[in-house]
Amino acid sequence: FTGKTNDTQILEKIKKLSVEDFQSIPVVVDRNSSVYDAVCAMFLEDVGTLFVVDQNSVLVGVLSRKDLLRASIGSKDLQTLPVDIIMTRMPNITICYKEDSIFEVAKSLIEKQIDAVPVVRESPNGLEVVGRFTKTNFTRALVDIVQNKLY
Ligand code: ADP
Repeated sequence: FTGKTNDTQILEKIKKLSVEDFQSIPVVVDRNSSVYDAVCAMFLEDVGTLFVVDQNSVLVGVLSRKDLLRASIGSKDLQTLPVDIIMTRMPNITICYKEDSIFEVAKSLIEKQIDAVPVVRESPNGLEVVGRFTKTNFTRALVDIVQNKLY
């Protein structure tokens, strides 16, 4: 092999890396939760993005750090303000599936200027949240590649 062929093969392998091998556990809150509860969940679970679900565990919204900060500045009673009012809601949520290429998902994170996407699977009621894929997960994949752990 020439060096070039090798590089191409490596790049092809990298492009095939899938979300399921790098995803994290999702942190979800119920759509009836208060903004106060969401702030607590974000701190306690140590994540930057929360996914909001309905009674069937179906994805209905996303909450980022800044969504919660904005709500905290703008309203007095965070204990009674439901997350439903301030979240980014379906169908405006960028999602991915566990089979997706991490590079395609990373591109959509950049394009949409967001930090994370929910990994979902289709269920009779809608999209169920099964994982979380973030900029950190992609960074970890790159570090693994450089450390030669992946092939
Ligand atoms: P932050 O707002 O804390 O900088 P993000 O950049 O991830 O964090 O979020 C920017 C905005 O995009 C927020 O209003 C958030 O609700 C929304 N958002 C975050 N993730 C998604 C997603 N996967 N799909 C659609 N909107 C999202």
